Amino acid sequence: MPTVSYSRRCRERSISAVKHHGGCHTWRRRLVRWVSTTEESDAVSETRTERRRDVIVVGGGLAGLVAACTAARAGADVLLVEGRDLGGRARTDRRQGFTFNRGPRALYVDGQAAPVLADLGVRTDRGGAPDTSAARGLRGGQLHVVPQGPMSLLRTTLVSARQKPTVAAVTARIPRLDPERFAGLTADQAIDRLRLPAAGADLLRALVRLTTYAAATDELDGVAAIRQLQLGLTTGVRYLDGGWQTLVDDLARRATELGVEVRRDTAVQALAPSADGNVEVRTSSGDLLAGTAVVATGTPAAATALLGRPVAESGRLGPPALAACLELGLRRPPAVPFVIGIDEPVYLSTHCPPADLAPEGGAVVHVMRYLRSDDADRSDEVRSALRALAARAGIAPGDVVEERFLARMTVTGALPTAATGGLAGRPPVEDPTRPGVLLAGDWVGPDGLLADAAASSAATAGRLAAARGARLAVA
Ligand SMILES: Cc1cc2nc3c(=O)[nH]c(=O)nc-3n(C[C@H](O)[C@H](O)[C@H](O)COP(=O)(O)OP(=O)(O)OC[C@H]3O[C@@H](n4cnc5c(N)ncnc54)[C@H](O)[C@@H]3O)c2cc1C
Repeated sequence: MPTVSYSRRCRERSISAVKHHGGCHTWRRRLVRWVSTTEESDAVSETRTERRRDVIVVGGGLAGLVAACTAARAGADVLLVEGRDLGGRARTDRRQGFTFNRGPRALYVDGQAAPVLADLGVRTDRGGAPDTSAARGLRGGQLHVVPQGPMSLLRTTLVSARQKPTVAAVTARIPRLDPERFAGLTADQAIDRLRLPAAGADLLRALVRLTTYAAATDELDGVAAIRQLQLGLTTGVRYLDGGWQTLVDDLARRATELGVEVRRDTAVQALAPSADGNVEVRTSSGDLLAGTAVVATGTPAAATALLGRPVAESGRLGPPALAACLELGLRRPPAVPFVIGIDEPVYLSTHCPPADLAPEGGAVVHVMRYLRSDDADRSDEVRSALRALAARAGIAPGDVVEERFLARMTVTGALPTAATGGLAGRPPVEDPTRPGVLLAGDWVGPDGLLADAAASSAATAGRLAAARGARLAVA
């Protein structure tokens, strides 16, 4: 690989792009600023220009890995640049023999991610479904049976005897509802349309929160909410043996097999278009790269920082979904394996068993509070409340071998909201006003939520980037 000081040719080409580039004004302003900062930084540090790649993927989380593998499989010469280690939010940590997924992780069996991963040779079938047969709903500080069939409906105290037939009838109809009926509505408005008694509506809202991780059901898009609820109530989810790190490891292996060059601990600092249709990418280690770029940096804010321009028009991006997570490694499974908050946005689930995440006989339980983006930071209070919820599920302090608290995790970069046009209103993978840059992540593109959105947008970005890279290589 040729290593030379910052090439005059590259700078001249960039300056000429400022004059001739047909893209939008913001991109041009960005380029002028980038060229001048590059000239300044040149004075103090050496920049190395590398050979052009077909595709440069920025970010090595699930989305970046899927995009890189997809592009490489289509024949592209791919470089993946990751600021830290591979995996992003899908990384897992081993602590005293327990595997912690950095908060709960459930792969939707019939979501978009499973076929994308399977197509790349990644196994998603190792693990099991959560045991919700003994699920409890937390309301008014008390645990109640959650109705899931005739017997639990008879026993539940979550709804009154008079309301039970209506709740049973509406719940049975949910899998067959046409989600498009709720276009333009928020999740709360969609639930109102189902004309449930208040207690039934609260239960449904809790299930929407459970399946989407959205505390902001008053903003969440109704179509996305009902679709996700249907996925959750029909084919459901799987907790993976060994945690989501197995997905990361399989994808990383596949990337190597496909010839993807992976550069870890290297942050990308800036992107700018060049006159020849490529995007120039400057890294923290002083490398200057060129190719078609896939930006898979996790959040809209990180993508905006790289592009130097907002990834969506003002007011066209929903709020992030956030969560505070308490992870517990236990000597034995808890008495109550599953709790959903009905009048509070909380969750508790035993991930091991069914998944293999703990030493023989032990258990891993995730306890969580769903946060809104405008929630004040009350981490000590939230941690105590989550410990109290664990105690309600029968977990005694002596059962806990290992505990970790993650105060504020970004679950989804931006939720699809009714006000921002739902799933179709999310930023697209490809946008003609930013030529050469494709986006991927759980806030991008029209398909699915959570990792399903990340995988689906990444597969699209990988395919488009490979095709574009091949066109430029020929030109
Ligand atoms: C608590 C929690 C629970 C969740 N539960 C579920 C669930 O049950 N089901 C589900 O489907 N999904 C779930 N998710 C969401 C899922 O984990 C994410 O959608 C998915 O992992 C996102 O992958 P990504 O690659 O888009 O982003 P990330 O994993 O965030 O990866 C982005 C990567 O880009 C790198 N990066 C950023 N900026 C730069 C830069 N300038 N240069 C180089 N590298 C950079 C970062 O270091 C990171 O590695 C959950 C998330 C959380 C936090």
